[in-house]
Amino acid sequence: MSIFSKIIQGEIPCYKIAENESCFAFLDINPKAKGHTLVIPKKEVDYLFDLEDEEYIELQKFVKKIAEAQKKALNCNRICTAVIGYEVPHAHIHLLPSNSMADATLSGKTKKYSKEEMQEIAQMIQDNME
Ligand code: AMP
Repeated sequence: MSIFSKIIQGEIPCYKIAENESCFAFLDINPKAKGHTLVIPKKEVDYLFDLEDEEYIELQKFVKKIAEAQKKALNCNRICTAVIGYEVPHAHIHLLPSNSMADATLSGKTKKYSKEEMQEIAQMIQDNME
């Protein structure tokens, strides 16, 4: 079972933002920006583009909802998305709040937030979900 499946099942803790029948969103534990979020399908598949069309569309619809909530919560210019996937073999879409081109990278420094701050950030995004 992937580490992300364990998160979905509650075996490993996370800063959860939201879930629906097929998708789950939580804060990246090594945030490259405040509110850096991962959105994953509950179905454990390594490579994003191995999802069935309908599953992929459902995931992207969920990504859009989370991105809208992030933008309101964090009051940033835009939410950038990235798919890398070399580290964890469970498809995930990075949602990266940004204010400039310089912010829009996963190669930058990891930001440090306390447990309480991470909880607050997750809550702020949750509070802005439609
Ligand atoms: P990549 O597979 O390169 O797209 O990167 C995987 C991402 O998952 C990285 O940004 C990690 O910080 C993140 N990550 C790994 N383990 C956890 C975890 N337990 N909770 C939240 N994020 C994680």
